[in-house]
Amino acid sequence: MKCQICGRSITNPDSVRFGIGPKCRVKLQETVLLTAKTGGKHSGYLRQFEAMSDTSLARSIRSYLREIQIHQEKLQNPEPFLKRQSWSQMSNLQRSGLIRHWEKEIRKFQELALLAIAELQRRKLSHVDRANHSSRMDS
Ligand SMILES: [Zn+2]
Repeated sequence: MKCQICGRSITNPDSVRFGIGPKCRVKLQETVLLTAKTGGKHSGYLRQFEAMSDTSLARSIRSYLREIQIHQEKLQNPEPFLKRQSWSQMSNLQRSGLIRHWEKEIRKFQELALLAIAELQRRKLSHVDRANHSSRMDS
């Protein structure tokens, strides 16, 4: 499989599940987080994630990853996913429109998964900070 951002081949199961390699993932996560924090794209989602429990956040991440996987399967083999019209009967324009739509969906789920992961990571870091702080106070 290839990284959907830089095209380099990816083999690590985590990267394959995401469709994006580790370096591109870090970069995309930084961009998405900064944009959402400053009131741009996905800022509403970020507020929702901030209000969620760790458990529901983890559940959301899993469901985004599942959506990414389903959409990647659609791209690889569209036919079983089409209800109204068969892939072979579609025009090239319809096919490329559908492919673009699925790719856009994948990117949206990738961004939301990274945003939700960023929120989980932020919580873990702040727990560590607090733990360090209290142990310093104790000693
Ligand atoms: Zn990449």
